[in-house]
Amino acid sequence: MKHQETMLNTLIKENGLNGFSEEEIGDDHIYTGLETPMRPDAFDISDQEKKEKIAHLFGQIMDVMGLDRTDDSLKGTPNRVAKMYIEEIFSGLNPANKPKVALFDNKYQYNQMLVEKNITFYSNCEHHFVPIIGKAHIAYISSGKVIGLSKLNRIVQYYAKRPQVQERLTNQIAAELKSILDTEDIAVIIDAKHLCVSSRGIKDDTSATVTSYYGGAFNTATKIAELQNYLNQ
Ligand SMILES: [Zn+2]
Repeated sequence: MKHQETMLNTLIKENGLNGFSEEEIGDDHIYTGLETPMRPDAFDISDQEKKEKIAHLFGQIMDVMGLDRTDDSLKGTPNRVAKMYIEEIFSGLNPANKPKVALFDNKYQYNQMLVEKNITFYSNCEHHFVPIIGKAHIAYISSGKVIGLSKLNRIVQYYAKRPQVQERLTNQIAAELKSILDTEDIAVIIDAKHLCVSSRGIKDDTSATVTSYYGGAFNTATKIAELQNYLNQ
C-alpha cells in the first residue's frame, strides 16, 4: 500500500491536477493529493473489530438524533451500516481487496486505442458521505500487454469504494492503469452526479461533474477528438 501510494504521489507531482486550478475545484472540493488520506494505523485492527466499533458508534449517532433503537425497523441498523461500510461501499480502502490483474500478450497486434465506456460506479463524497453516482470511460493503447475487460471495471469499482473526491478517483484509476499496463497512453473520463450537490446544499438536480485524465499519446487534440467520437457513438 505504502509503496503503491508513494508511486501514485510521484505521478500526481509529475502530472499535476489535469488543468484544474484550486479555484475551479472550489471550497468544498479541496483536493489534497492523489493519495487517499489514511492514518498510519489504518490496518492495525481487523475488519471484524472495525465493524464492531462502527456499529457501536453509529448506534450512538442514532441515539443522539433521538431515534428509538428498540423499534424493530431500527434495531439492526448499526450492524447493517457497519457491515456495509467495511465489506461494500468503503471496501476499497483496504489494499487486501485490490483486484488481482492478469495481463495477456497483445497477440492480435491491435495497436489502436481500446475504449471501455459507460462503466457505472457508485462512490461516496468524502466531504458529506453521500453518494456520487457516475460513469467512467477508460481508454488505453497497448504497449505489448492487454488486460481483461472486466478488470478495467474492477479497478474502477475498487477506487470508487472509498470516501472520494472525483478528481482523485480519476487520477487514482489512471495511475493504476499506467502502472499495470506499463504505458503512459491512458485516458480516463468520469461523468458523475454528486448527491451532496443535487439532494442538499444548492439542490441542483441537473448538473454533473466531468473530470478527465489524458496521458501520453492521448494528450493531443486529435486523439481526444477520436476518443470523444467513440464515446459519442
Ligand atoms: Zn460532498
